[in-house]
Amino acid sequence: MRVALAGNPNCGKTTLFNALTGSSRYVGNWPGVTVEKIEGRLKSNKNIVITDLPGIYSLTPRSEDETVSRNFLLFEHPDLIINIVDASRLERNFYLTAQLAETGIPMIVAFNMTDIVRKNGDFIDTKELSHRIGAPIIEISALKEEGIPELLNAVETAAEIKPPRPPQYSASIEKAIQKIEASDISFPTAESRRGFAVKILERDREILQSLSVAPKTAAEAEKITAELERESGSDIGALLANERYGFISRILDGCYTKKEKKTTVSDKIDRIVTDRLLSIPIFASIMFLVYFISVTTVGAFLTDWTNDVFFGEWILPAAQSGLESLGTADWLVSLIVDGIIGGVGTVLGFLPQLFVLFLFLSFLEDCGYMARAAFIMHRFFKRFGLSGKSFIPLLISSGCGVPGIMATKTIENEKSRRLTIITTTFIPCGAKLPVIALIGGAVMGGAWWTAPAIYFIGIAAVAVSSIILKKTKPFEGAESPFVMELPDYHWPSPKGILLHVWERCRSFVIKAGTVIFIACAVIWFLSGFGFTEDGFEMTNIEESLLADAGNLIAPIFRPVGFGDWKAAAATVTGLVAKENIVGTLGVLLTKSEATESDVGLWQAVASLFPSKSAAFAFLVFNILCAPCFAAIGAVRRQMNSRTWTLFAVAWQTLLAYAVALMIFQFGNLADGEPFTAASGAAIAVLVGLLYALLRSPRWEEKFFRRRKK
Ligand code: GDP
Ligand code: MG
Repeated sequence: MRVALAGNPNCGKTTLFNALTGSSRYVGNWPGVTVEKIEGRLKSNKNIVITDLPGIYSLTPRSEDETVSRNFLLFEHPDLIINIVDASRLERNFYLTAQLAETGIPMIVAFNMTDIVRKNGDFIDTKELSHRIGAPIIEISALKEEGIPELLNAVETAAEIKPPRPPQYSASIEKAIQKIEASDISFPTAESRRGFAVKILERDREILQSLSVAPKTAAEAEKITAELERESGSDIGALLANERYGFISRILDGCYTKKEKKTTVSDKIDRIVTDRLLSIPIFASIMFLVYFISVTTVGAFLTDWTNDVFFGEWILPAAQSGLESLGTADWLVSLIVDGIIGGVGTVLGFLPQLFVLFLFLSFLEDCGYMARAAFIMHRFFKRFGLSGKSFIPLLISSGCGVPGIMATKTIENEKSRRLTIITTTFIPCGAKLPVIALIGGAVMGGAWWTAPAIYFIGIAAVAVSSIILKKTKPFEGAESPFVMELPDYHWPSPKGILLHVWERCRSFVIKAGTVIFIACAVIWFLSGFGFTEDGFEMTNIEESLLADAGNLIAPIFRPVGFGDWKAAAATVTGLVAKENIVGTLGVLLTKSEATESDVGLWQAVASLFPSKSAAFAFLVFNILCAPCFAAIGAVRRQMNSRTWTLFAVAWQTLLAYAVALMIFQFGNLADGEPFTAASGAAIAVLVGLLYALLRSPRWEEKFFRRRKK
């Protein structure tokens, strides 16, 4: 049996899905977390397949993820719908229920969030309501896992459930529906006939197409709709919406009273947190603290210990002497000690920082603050043509860019969606954190501002890119409105938070054990072998293959401050996975300076860069430039165009280069270095950027129009 979970965004579908199937899908406090349908099997009965769908408000989709849900419900004939209703927002949620009742599919209504209903003191006569809509209603709390056995029981006995009674419209509409039902359209099933007829009455083109309705019949249907509109003097969408709300209030009449809401603690917090003047400084301070604490203080302390004591004093010497006492070949000792422990070990050393960062971010998400952040950022983003909807992918990207890019599916406007795909990986993801921490710790002397600065540079890069690109034709245009319900603040469950953190840390560790592991072995090999006078053989690092390749590309990076081939090579390996930047430096530096002269990895890294501004330029370049291949692949899938993918990568890399150039060159001038051609180039870049930011939109068009005259 196939069961579909359908409901409004944020009503608890994924929480319920996890409770029913025992899986641990991402649950977020904002819409757009589930952007694809996800299947799972019931814990208690593996024959029952449950599909978690993206949230929808109605069966008329506006964005890609909503279309997924609509098409699943209408065309894939699930045997049962579990309609999850946020019972603390009954009227709004019933709008979808009324439409689901038309699909002719048996339905169980799950009243979720009953814990909140109880707390609010609302009154709901579930029994009478269930009778009125003709579908069983089960009260649950997906979060607190209440009512789940009852729901399971209802699902198991679903064979006895009949489709609910569809809403009755006024006589003229009913007559119009009947006419369409009686036409020669071949409806997939007898039960679904009414639902499809209503969609056709609503002028749903996609339905007409998928039912392959003949043009003549479609024209007749159009006549019926037009006739109805003329009679009532309003358009069909408004007409049906009105009728549906009428139906809902009739259904709820006497069964539901919402208690007059007092000003809750949530409202009081919101008054400050979303205040027009205070909201942005508060958001900035919170994010500052998050990055400061996790990367610079607590996390850094834990990481230092992991790197210096755990790996440096325990694992490395133990491995070295252990292997040597076993009589292991020198090259194998070097592979394991320099390559694997040096590379993978260095990357893993940053796990504590990552853990602390994810702990904070998950807390902010789960307690409800991040939903406010999207709302606050909407006011900020609106100025340069993005909406708060674009903030959600950015938020997700602070974990990993790939789901961040996928989350852009919820953005209806294609131009804004593209823009968000291009800019979302500017936000430092978990994999970039080790790079930030390494450079921050080794070169910036643990400066308190490094990590927060990178986060805000990421946001600034999003803003700057949006402002510049929105002034060009392929991106211009107004943004669609952003509607979002703010959930009440609540104390997150420790289990939920730890689950989030665990998921994210786990993928970091898995990556370290697979991709990074292999990459470090490859780097070890490339940096240990090379062509000498005696042919291809093991050689010292400066004559290795990697040194040759690195030296080839290093000149490109000389103007931005990291002309050392090791830094250049690390940047390139970062394309495979950003952790590789650290892994590569780990391998290369463990091999050379660090082990020989006992200066430690930190100093070895610092000695790669001529100045602090060079190291900072290296860091910023690696944060902003083309993301890893996995993310580029995600961009390719979401853009569905090679040209746009290339554009995205080129834009990111060029912007990264421009910013790094300015940081290094202006840093040099500030340090009292002489003025060079490169300093001139940096000034030119700054002027160019300022011009692109401040110019009036579409000058090209005016320019060309004038030329034509
Ligand atoms: P979806 O968008 O419908 O998949 O919703 P999610 O499952 O992602 O949940 C949205 C938010 O509602 C999360 O913060 C959940 O913790 C919260 N939530 C889900 N079910 C309940 C519930 O029964 N009670 C309360 N208080 N919160 C819930
Ligand atoms: Mg979901």
